[in-house]
Amino acid sequence: RIARQLQDGLFARQVARISSARPANRARHYDVLVVGAGFAGAVMAERIASGSGKSVLVIDKRPHIAGNAYDHHDDAGILVHKYGPHIFHTNSRDILDYLSRFTGWRPYEHRVLAYVDGQLVPMPINRTTLNALYGMNLETEEEAAAYLQSVAIDVGEVRNSRDTVVSQVGQDLYAKFFEGYTRKQWGVDPRELDKSVAARVPARTNTDDRYFTDAHQCMPDKGYTRMFRKMLNHPQIDVLTGQGYDDLPETISWEHLVWTGPIDEYFHHRLGHLPYRSLRFEHETLPQEQVQPVATVNYPDYDVPHTRITEFKHLTGQQAEVTSIMREYPADEGDPYYPVPNPAAQDMYRRYAALARDCPEVTFVGRLATYRYYNMDQIVGQALATWRRLDARWRLESLS
Ligand code: FAD
Repeated sequence: RIARQLQDGLFARQVARISSARPANRARHYDVLVVGAGFAGAVMAERIASGSGKSVLVIDKRPHIAGNAYDHHDDAGILVHKYGPHIFHTNSRDILDYLSRFTGWRPYEHRVLAYVDGQLVPMPINRTTLNALYGMNLETEEEAAAYLQSVAIDVGEVRNSRDTVVSQVGQDLYAKFFEGYTRKQWGVDPRELDKSVAARVPARTNTDDRYFTDAHQCMPDKGYTRMFRKMLNHPQIDVLTGQGYDDLPETISWEHLVWTGPIDEYFHHRLGHLPYRSLRFEHETLPQEQVQPVATVNYPDYDVPHTRITEFKHLTGQQAEVTSIMREYPADEGDPYYPVPNPAAQDMYRRYAALARDCPEVTFVGRLATYRYYNMDQIVGQALATWRRLDARWRLESLS
């Protein structure tokens, strides 16, 4: 544990060394300023420096790099994810290969159980879930499909999140797994949410209890923050953490801006505030080796205030006599985590996106700048594609 804390201390000092390049009153010009050191910002910075040969300053208002994927060793020496459990999964070999330049991997398949009617059952709902909950003995996919069909409700046109679920799994499973969870997570009844919200977690007729089914599922073997540090470790890249865009010293100038923060913030909310759902994270270390059988246990019951508990050692494979867990509580206020998928918000975003198209000197990339929930691999893919377009434009401009 001490060795790990020393390593983290060393790491903090190295980042500080990069940050101490802060040119308080010294003028410094960069080809590109990248706002945000999460996946979008780090991939853009790495590609612009390594691929386009330009100088880059990356800033983040948080005191660390890695954005929401930030992980660190807590006081007990356990590697924890500060902003919620981040599990890497992708179907893209190219994206995995790109990130593999900066990290090795530990194979890991995520499993989630839900605490329902006093027992822990697989989530997403699968044949094991159905048999455990209803005392059945469904043995084949056909039997499970027939059961789900017998309880599914014909809602006619699927208009909202409740319709999506009850039309697949019926009222009882909807009430047990989705209604309370969705009301906690989004603060509204599932009837008021877009049908796409519940579509991400379908029911299965087999006994596959993996949360994700992607071809590649793994975790960075030394953690996400280490991977980001390697990505940003380039002579053409400076990093300033604890540095917001608004209070950047006037002595710093740039040719092109890459913006990975909230798009409405860039435009000073002139069309209104885009709504977000937030989370409060409660971390705790317990004096035992393990507290739950899988990394994440969901609590769909509305009367339980948290939505899920994650035990990090399952994700990282770390061995220790103690264990660290995190409870997640949905919140109205706080950091922006989930864009609210309702028509008014989408309409406001489209109007911001139109403003963004009129700003050729700014590139908007990442989940906050494109106002949509994306997984990490999708953001890496988005950033790589965005860089290719930008690089092609710069090459054309340099010819003219
Ligand atoms: P971020 O990581 O949010 O980075 C944006 C950065 O910009 C932030 O660090 C912010 O501080 C900075 N910033 C914003 N405004 C400013 C400003 N004005 N000045 C300076 N800096 C600024 N994806 C998966 O693939 N697997 C998972 O298991 C998974 N779990 C998740 C769990 C939770 C609870 C959440 C909320 C998301 C999860 N995700 C997961 C999604 C993942 O977090 C995102 O895909 C990823 O973080 C997107 O990277 P990004 O760079 O776009 O945004």
